[in-house]
Amino acid sequence: MTNHSVQCDLCGGDKFEIVSRSDRHKQALDTGLCLGCGLVMHLPVPNEAEVAEYYATRYRQDYHGERQPSERRVMRAWKNAGRIYNQIGSSISAVETVFEIGAGIGCTVKYFEDQGLKASGIEPNHDFNAFTHSKLFADVENVNLYDLEPTPRTDLVLLIHVIEHFSSPKKALKHIHGLINDGGMFYVECPNLTGPFATQSRMFHYAHIYNFSPETLKSMAEQCGFELIESFSGDDDADIQMLFRKVGMQDQPVQLSGNADRVRARINKYNALSYHARPAYLSKRARKVSSYLMEYMKAREFVSSLLSRLEKQR
Ligand SMILES: [Zn+2]
Repeated sequence: MTNHSVQCDLCGGDKFEIVSRSDRHKQALDTGLCLGCGLVMHLPVPNEAEVAEYYATRYRQDYHGERQPSERRVMRAWKNAGRIYNQIGSSISAVETVFEIGAGIGCTVKYFEDQGLKASGIEPNHDFNAFTHSKLFADVENVNLYDLEPTPRTDLVLLIHVIEHFSSPKKALKHIHGLINDGGMFYVECPNLTGPFATQSRMFHYAHIYNFSPETLKSMAEQCGFELIESFSGDDDADIQMLFRKVGMQDQPVQLSGNADRVRARINKYNALSYHARPAYLSKRARKVSSYLMEYMKAREFVSSLLSRLEKQR
């Protein structure tokens, strides 16, 4: 057990246990488990300048420095946006405006606009900006979250695979709270650390500063003035998917005693052998390989017809 001088972003505790010494590429990366609440994070936690530096250099290489998103990437993003819309559609019937933080290519913003909502967003990375603006015609601005004045502007904020990248999720969610109209909502998706999605050696990634379980994500949102409306994911799902309502900011202590033990047990449960031998994994893998070529061929047609429709309806 090691004591660090860092404070847990969720519970404020300062007692951590190292649960991993390397990332999924076998590079040195210390990951700590907060013994107070079960939140899992890099130790030390990189500050915002370090995170920005990472995105300016290494993260680009992970995505091969693409400037034009591939057709497969666009098709997947568009279909994923449809999945999200269908999932939360009946819960957001009163919503008129949607704002996405970390909009990526811009497919989700455009999809929601396509459904008749007023949709916009921000994306700090500028690599795909040209495509976002001149092909998708999506209203996505190239700025950071903290560049936005914390004044209410939207009925719903979307945060899709973004919360795990913040230097302080608590600071980010409190800022997001300020962007949402009274009675508005907040939808978040991120990887589920305690789901059986990866073996321990493939689990940790520099870009994912925080690793949430459903309990720690819900508690983090509650600390920042949100209450859970609905969870769309189960404990064993690869991702956590939760919809919250904005409520008043309340200063209540985090009540997650025993959660660190639960999280540690789940991290250690799936070793390499048992994970890869699970029947669900094998059939999933087989489906993945056989559908790859089909998807590649479909994507070109899908994206060309999507872009020509968007061009016509400008
Ligand atoms: Zn904690």
